[in-house]
Amino acid sequence: MIQNKSDMQGQLLDIMDGLKVLKPSSPYWPQSANSYIFEDVEGLTLFDVGCGSISSVENLLWVIKRLAGDSVKITKIILSHAHPDHMGGIETLVPELKPESIIIHELDFPFALNPEKLQFSFDIPLCKKRLKEKGDIENHSDTPGNSGKKGASFDLLYYFNSVNCSMSSVKANSIVREGDNIQIGSYNFDVIHTPGHAPGHISLYERKKRFLLSGDILGDIVAWYSPSSGGVIGYLKSLEKIETLDLDFILPSHGDIISDPNKVIRKTRKELLKRDELILKSLKIRPKTFHELLKLFFDSPSVQFFPGTPILESHLQKLRIEGKIKSTNFQPKKFFLV
Ligand SMILES: [Zn+2]
Ligand SMILES: [Zn+2]
Repeated sequence: MIQNKSDMQGQLLDIMDGLKVLKPSSPYWPQSANSYIFEDVEGLTLFDVGCGSISSVENLLWVIKRLAGDSVKITKIILSHAHPDHMGGIETLVPELKPESIIIHELDFPFALNPEKLQFSFDIPLCKKRLKEKGDIENHSDTPGNSGKKGASFDLLYYFNSVNCSMSSVKANSIVREGDNIQIGSYNFDVIHTPGHAPGHISLYERKKRFLLSGDILGDIVAWYSPSSGGVIGYLKSLEKIETLDLDFILPSHGDIISDPNKVIRKTRKELLKRDELILKSLKIRPKTFHELLKLFFDSPSVQFFPGTPILESHLQKLRIEGKIKSTNFQPKKFFLV
């Protein structure tokens, strides 16, 4: 257990009255997710709890006890979404902290309860299907279903274990939806449903104080997206929704405070739409297969497998809906401009 301040990893920074952020020492995913900590007269509220590695959980517990003492009372744990870098620590933390409520969006509730289901919101079966179509199945010497290697026997559960951020399960006792309200001391948040990266991803909007806890939808980098998590269509709609809010700053789950929200929203949208343009430009030359298009975006076969496949699939779905492309009915299936 951590005994003194010099053992603490990362930084605990004051954001504003009664709100701090615990920034992990590692800037690299999956260890890089921030935890936001609210202090009010009733106790502490956490927005995301980070990975479930021993060091990450001990670090958060040490910070909590330093802020609130041994008789700490946790009123709420709010989860931006059910990915292990945001809630991996919850299985260990809940018996220790006994929060009064654990809050998650209704669409991410089943993934938090049974994280093995995450393979569906990550569209891993689709990644394997596309790989099979390419006829490039890797022969793994390891047991199928026990592989962190991106290929035919890829297993998401095993993968998160291998990056020291194991999946964790929790039965949330409070479900939220778009438009719901969460009061934390003097902070009053509107729940904004922001899918694209996760089906039940939420951002929290403080109207009076003019800021947003964005989760993964805005931050250092553009998050990956998959058709089953809302895809590029969902992501763009989430950005549109955020753009209508009056914001002075954004508190992201990965990275530092964003002091120019509109600039980051515009930059994120531009990066998403650039992928549409790249596909259209490439199809202007000649029809192409899924894997030919995949190579436009991603060099490494492992990134092509994930998140490349679900990202590309999202764009092809969007362009098809918009009537800009079609595909042949025969194999190998080729996409062409309308
Ligand atoms: Zn995530
Ligand atoms: Zn994340």
